[in-house]
Amino acid sequence: MSSFRFHFDNSYSRLPSRFYTKLEPTPVPNPGPVRVNSGLADLLGIDADWLASEEGTQVLAGNRVPEGSEPIATVYAGHQFGGWSPQLGDGRAILLGEVIGRDQLRYDIQLKGSGRTPYSRGGDGKAPLGPVLREYIVSEAMAAFGVPTSRSLAAVTTGEHVFRPPEALPGAVLTRVAQSHIRIGTFQYFYSLQDVAALQILTDHVINRHYPAAALSDNPARAMLDGVVAAQASLVAQWQLLGFIHGVMNTDNMLLSGETIDYGPCAFMDAFHPDRVFSSIDHQGRYAYSNQPSIAHWNLANLAQSLVPVLDSDRERATTQAQEAIDVFPDLFQSAYRRGMARKLGLTELEAEDDSLATEFLGLMTREQSDFTLAFRRLAELAKPASAQGIAELFEFSEAYAGWLQRWSQRVEQDKQSADERQVSMFSANPAFIPRNHLVEAAISNAIEEDFSSFNQLLDLLEASRDYDPGLREIARPPRADEIVAQTFCGT
Ligand code: AMP
Ligand code: MG
Repeated sequence: MSSFRFHFDNSYSRLPSRFYTKLEPTPVPNPGPVRVNSGLADLLGIDADWLASEEGTQVLAGNRVPEGSEPIATVYAGHQFGGWSPQLGDGRAILLGEVIGRDQLRYDIQLKGSGRTPYSRGGDGKAPLGPVLREYIVSEAMAAFGVPTSRSLAAVTTGEHVFRPPEALPGAVLTRVAQSHIRIGTFQYFYSLQDVAALQILTDHVINRHYPAAALSDNPARAMLDGVVAAQASLVAQWQLLGFIHGVMNTDNMLLSGETIDYGPCAFMDAFHPDRVFSSIDHQGRYAYSNQPSIAHWNLANLAQSLVPVLDSDRERATTQAQEAIDVFPDLFQSAYRRGMARKLGLTELEAEDDSLATEFLGLMTREQSDFTLAFRRLAELAKPASAQGIAELFEFSEAYAGWLQRWSQRVEQDKQSADERQVSMFSANPAFIPRNHLVEAAISNAIEEDFSSFNQLLDLLEASRDYDPGLREIARPPRADEIVAQTFCGT
């Protein structure tokens, strides 16, 4: 194959062989391009036009292994819905290698849906087109909102059918990019084997890659753990502030880098309810919206436990270190959440007495079944009465909000920002467009009929983070009763 298209520098495949299995993607019959993310390609120093070419499409489908790639499937374990699985791993994903981006950060380039691996268990290693497009849309929306996340570099179709009884669906491959794919479950895997040498190697690798300042600490493993706790606290706060429900916060779906990963049965809420659950398999509501912070805390406790052998040679001291590190999670989460909520409400800071302002607003939304996104966006419009009031045609506060709105306007008047500053800041914290479930579903069903226009249109809009205008009403509006998507399904 011609010249270097990816400037690979593969650090994970230089780790000991018990961290992964070397294997190539499974070739597919007839690859076809769907979309290439040219902004991301540019960041990674990859020619987007080449990615979209015949040769690039063959690479993205797994039919040609690019020069410099050392394809591997990584091993991990994890708690799935609270139950322990001693061995998981990349069952339908292959890491092609790592590249250094223009921002000097290291990025994994992974094909998802590229065939069976030793970790596939009963699965076929394939991905249907629907979940691939869903992940593409939602991950890129998250990136546009400024939330740390895995990215989508490209999607291709494979020209074969994937069987998900009772259906045969078109197959696809997503090229996923993340700062790494190292999960809490990766640490749990080696901890459960009591492979302390591997835990030390993995810890050093994560420090090098994600928490370089921790190397200078007296206790680098502890400093790394502190860094992960802080990153996850901030991440989950950002999910809460956008009304995002991850849906499958298993320990194998939480990254050490603090990026969002594994867009399976995830969704943004339309009408707000704190107990909202979407995932069809989450019968207990374990991963309901309001549980996400405590689940993240629980997951981090598992990471901390897995780190005990490397936190201190004395077991008791190590356990104390682990406990101290995770005990700060609730405070870190609260302060990240309160900072974000202050911005959403147009305040420089949320003072203690403002907490009730925030909780009462959410309480009203719950009782009134208000659209989470539009309620906050409408509030941003009201922050400057002379500005365009476009969202009002889609959402207006009911009478029930009158007293609250009055309290809110009195409170913002005491805040030191000007109305202009406040509104700019509120607009950026309160997006007008989210990838609403019914839009994602419509984009997918059209794509299955080989019409990718609504998929591309939705992505173009989300990537551009546009302001509201009436021409975009159809994308901003909440679902009609007959359009509401009540459940989402895993990407398998
Ligand atoms: P997830 O719920 O997407 O995090 O997947 C849980 C585990 O199942 C991971 O180890 C996946 O690699 C594996 N898995 C999911 N779907 C498939 C599939 N179609 N074929 C093989 N393995 C899969
Ligand atoms: Mg997963």
